[in-house]
This record gives sequence, structure tokens and C-alpha cells, in this order.
Amino acid sequence: MDIISGQQVASSSVVHNLAVRLMQHLVVATFVLDAERRVTIWNHACERLTGIPAAQVIGTRDHWRGFYDAPRHCLADLIALEQFDMLAELYAAHTTPGEFGVGLRAENWCVMPALGQRRYLAVDAGPIYDDHGQLVAVIQTLRDMTEQKLAEMALQHLATRDALTGMANRRALDEKLLLEWKCGQRTESSLAFILGDIDYFKRYNDTYGHQQGDSCLRAIAGAISGTVFRPADLAARYGGEEFAIIMPNTDLAGARAVAERICLAVRECGIPHGASEVAPHVTLSLGVAATIPGPDDGPESLIAAADAALYRAKHSGRDRVLCATSA
Ligand code: GH3
Ligand code: MG
Ligand code: MG
Repeated sequence: MDIISGQQVASSSVVHNLAVRLMQHLVVATFVLDAERRVTIWNHACERLTGIPAAQVIGTRDHWRGFYDAPRHCLADLIALEQFDMLAELYAAHTTPGEFGVGLRAENWCVMPALGQRRYLAVDAGPIYDDHGQLVAVIQTLRDMTEQKLAEMALQHLATRDALTGMANRRALDEKLLLEWKCGQRTESSLAFILGDIDYFKRYNDTYGHQQGDSCLRAIAGAISGTVFRPADLAARYGGEEFAIIMPNTDLAGARAVAERICLAVRECGIPHGASEVAPHVTLSLGVAATIPGPDDGPESLIAAADAALYRAKHSGRDRVLCATSA
């Protein structure tokens, strides 16, 4: 019996050593914490990913140094400590406990201090228990998703930008408007919307050609974007020669002042327009509306009110700002 148990001891330690060696050479970056959250394994792929040699972290709780420039918990720590309420605070995206058995998956931009470059890492972490249900280790694997994330961000940028002017496009505007409408409903604060439309732009194209028309659109977009907005505001190309600005926490008087600035900025571009009936240069008409979003309606009424004001601005002489009577 002794010999057999001796063989068992010997073979289990052989298996353990083999498992450690396998993990060391695994192509997936991996580290393991013990129940006290001290690093027991920091494999070669993890050394390559972080630029930190295993010798610097084995036996310590300094694994965060591989990823961040100040102490903070990694996913494996949250599992060891069962501090799942910190997930949302620490990660850009994450699964909820129980969604993937006992493990967790999360992703985040990491500072990677030893490398000196930010990397977007997808991490999986899972606990290992002994036969009595006691936590003995937490294993964390890491994948570098930086290239994919950058490609995704570039696509996202393309999907929300207008190709001609570089401004936010209609889709981005619609999303933002819905978001701010809901926010305004919650906080009962005024949301303002400005619609601008270039005057006699068909005649501009007919006179100067479509190419020149495109340059004019870019210049007007630049003048609008160059007008000072608050960080929470969004200026967008709404359609052909139409532009829109969303301004949260802004009342009608505040939005009117911004619209007047835009009207002036377009005038001051001084783009010649020989076929315009209102000025020798390109001008813009603007309609302004503002409202405290009601609990039961959507932003359509706000857009319609700005549109009606724009219509009145066109019919009362163009090159001016008119405000909605109600939104
Ligand atoms: P109003 O003063 O009443 O606004 O008259 P308008 O001529 O500006 O309005 P209308 O709606 O009749 O014409 C808009 C013109 O804008 C027609 C269209 O060819 C032009 N347009 C729309 N999108 C583009 C674009 O991307 N590039 C160019 N060059 N022109 C465009
Ligand atoms: Mg138009
Ligand atoms: Mg027009």
C-alpha cells in the first residue's frame, strides 16, 4: 500500500510538473494566482505580452504592473475576492457572474507600462477548487485584441461620419437625439435643436458646378463646426445641404444665440454666390426649437418645430434665424 501510495504521490507530482511546464509554453498568455492572490505562474506568452519577466512577479501580488500604471484589481482578483460589483467600474465590457459557468470574461484598454503602449485585452478568468470546494487558484488568460478593436473603432467612425464633410452623419445625429431626449426626460432639462439649410443651393450648383458645390458644403460644415459648442453638443450633416445641431441643457434663448453665431460665421466665409437673391455670398437660414422632453412623446415634435421655424425663415427672406413658437 505504501509503495502504491508512494507511486501515486510520485505520479501526481509528475503530472503537476507537466501541467506547469505545459502552461509555461502555452501560446496563450496566462498567469495563475493562489488563494491569497499571489502569482504562482506567469507563462512565457504572458512575459511577451506584458514585457515583464516572471521573476519580477512570481510570489507577489504585483501582477497589475503588467497591465496598469497604478494598483488595481485584475479579473482574477475579482474572482478570488468575489467582488463582482467592481466589474462595471473596471472593465469596458464583461460577462455577468454565472453566464459562463464559474468563470468571467472581460475586455479593456490596458496601459501596459513595461511596453509603453496601450493594448486592448480580452481576458478570461476562472477559479480552481479542491475536492472540498476550497479555492486553490485562479487562472487568467489574456488575448491581445488591439488590432481588431482599432478596426472596429475605424468602422464605427466610418459608420457615424459623413464622407463629404467629415461631420457626424444623420445616423449619429438620430442616435444622439434619442439619447439626449431620454436624458432630458429623466432630468427634466431643456433640449435644443437647430436646423440650418443653405439658401439657393440648387442655383449655386447650377452656376458653379457640382464639384464647387461640394467644396462649398465642406466650407459651410467647417464654419458650423468651428462655431464654439459645448462638449455635449453635436453638429451634424442632416441631409444634402442641411445641417443640424443638438444642444442638451440649453433653452431657446441659448440655442438662438448659437444659431445667430452660425449664421454670421457662414456669412463671414464670404463664398461668392452670384445667383442668390439675398446676398452676393452663400448664406444659411436656421430654425431653432427647444423643449423639456415630455414623458410620453419622442423627439419628432422637436424636429418638426425646428423645421417649421426654418420654413418661416426661408419664407420671410432667408439668411436669418427664426425660433419655434412651441416644440
Ligand atoms: P432654398 O433656399 O429654398 O433652400 O433653396 P435650395 O436651392 O437650397 O433648395 P433645394 O432643396 O431646391 O435644393 C437643394 C440643392 O442641394 C439641390 C441639390 O442638388 C443640392 N445638393 C444636395 N446634396 C448635395 C451634395 O452632396 N453636393 C452638392 N454639390 N449639392 C448637393
Ligand atoms: Mg434643403
Ligand atoms: Mg437650401
